[in-house]
Amino acid sequence: MGTKNSNSSENGVVHLVDDLLNRAIRGRGSDVHFEPGEREMRVRYRIDGLLHDLDRIPGQLAENVIARLKVLAGLLTYRIDIPQEGAFNSRQIEGANGEPLDLRVATFPTVRGERAVVRLLHTVGQISGLEELGLDQSLVTEFERAARQPQGLILVTGPAGSGKSTTLYAIARYILSEDPGRSVVSLEDPVEQRIAGMTQIQIAPHGELNYPRAMRSLLRQDVQVLLVGEIRDAETAHVVVEASLTGHLIMSTMHSGDPAETIVRLLEMGIAPYQLVSALNVVCAQRLVRTVCPACKGRGECEPCAGTGYAGRTACGQLAAMDETLRQAILDHRPVGELRKIVNRQRPDLTTDGKRLVDAGRTTLDELRRVLGDVE
Ligand SMILES: [Zn+2]
Repeated sequence: MGTKNSNSSENGVVHLVDDLLNRAIRGRGSDVHFEPGEREMRVRYRIDGLLHDLDRIPGQLAENVIARLKVLAGLLTYRIDIPQEGAFNSRQIEGANGEPLDLRVATFPTVRGERAVVRLLHTVGQISGLEELGLDQSLVTEFERAARQPQGLILVTGPAGSGKSTTLYAIARYILSEDPGRSVVSLEDPVEQRIAGMTQIQIAPHGELNYPRAMRSLLRQDVQVLLVGEIRDAETAHVVVEASLTGHLIMSTMHSGDPAETIVRLLEMGIAPYQLVSALNVVCAQRLVRTVCPACKGRGECEPCAGTGYAGRTACGQLAAMDETLRQAILDHRPVGELRKIVNRQRPDLTTDGKRLVDAGRTTLDELRRVLGDVE
């Protein structure tokens, strides 16, 4: 192959990748998937939590497209047999307008060649305050009350992509604005948003700096408020509970269902009931639902919503606060069903709270069903 030829095809791939990324950025995409197939590479992007087709690329270009992404992210182009992770900035993309944003690239070898996912970390349109999340005002008030305490545990739960870290960031911002004198530190994997006034530390889950180890050393450094990205195992759960019983305010997330289920999971991880009732302040299960596109009123006929009828997302949730009834039920080792009844007497469950958004015309019953499953 002549030098001239190979240069022009290289340029072609550079333009192609720039164009795909620009289209995803303009379309408010959060992730772009490059998936090698039999004859072609499928490119899809995620808008408001759902994947949509972006383009299809001839199979013979697939390798070069992945190689271009690897060059941008500073990865080893000649290693196609191992997963790699890297990052770059949108300033490196030709024709990228607007606010610069960070892009994270993760590659993975498959039987059809390497697959890559590019995560777009938008800063514009990010939610900053608790009242912007879409949660009912009574939940916001409970979060604020818990955040003003000198110690205790604030938990936000839900599946991946349910906006848990956005809620934690909003609570952190509230704490920093209410009392700038408090020292607030976060341990995250990965750091998703930069928050002014908060020391943010990136965790390496399989490396030296894992959650329990990082927490133990930080707690010796006079930290008052600690954001722990996720409680993934019993060891982290134990350190989190101990810390929130010894003068620290801890907020974290768990990958679990409703508040009652979360309480039972913590007990199953070996947290003693008497410790849990003293440590836990509030636990909120939350979900994100897409909101009806204001431009076409949900008909799905316009460009701003890419024909989906939805634009943007909002949160619904159920919060449980530790009160005397719940405390006694946990100490009495009551089963999950009984805990759930107690929590449901405190506040509406997820479905009922989701219907609040349907009634307000912010989302649809179909969307609520997609997120929560069976909804009457
Ligand atoms: Zn629309």
